[in-house]
Amino acid sequence: MTERTFSILKPDATERNLTGKINAVIEDAGLRIVAQRRIRMTEAQAKTFYEVHKDRPFYGELVGQMTSAPVVVQVLEGENAVAKYREIMGATNPEQAAEGTIRKLFAKNVGENSVHGSDSQDNAKLEIAQFFTEDQIVG
Ligand code: ADP
Ligand code: MG
Repeated sequence: MTERTFSILKPDATERNLTGKINAVIEDAGLRIVAQRRIRMTEAQAKTFYEVHKDRPFYGELVGQMTSAPVVVQVLEGENAVAKYREIMGATNPEQAAEGTIRKLFAKNVGENSVHGSDSQDNAKLEIAQFFTEDQIVG
């Protein structure tokens, strides 16, 4: 089934000029980038986005990292896009990520791990709506 997922190329990736290389992995996997914008995430946006992790010890550090440099927010579309993107992202900790995955190829560490991808279709819809209006998504 064709579906959409939400992606962020994180500050550690934009800082190292990896937008194009990561987008190549995404497109080579058959996912279509149907919306994309480079933004500086505000502290309020980062806190809301990662609210589910607010009681975790790394929450403050995570919000700090996400607001430290520009990010690229994206909507990806394709067959089973949510699961497909999670698969090509690789495990949260790059040391545990499979060969060829974005995090294995590019991530610096478990915190600065280059990309975000939605973990469910429901969350994908909520996350997309936080950053894009429907008319900004061109499938
Ligand atoms: P994922 O991004 O793979 O869905 P989580 O939802 O568990 O992973 O965590 C959200 C983000 O929080 C991670 O991508 C990473 O940037 C950060 N994070 C997760 N676990 C840790 C940790 N143990 N130490 C530091 N940062 C972490
Ligand atoms: Mg997650």
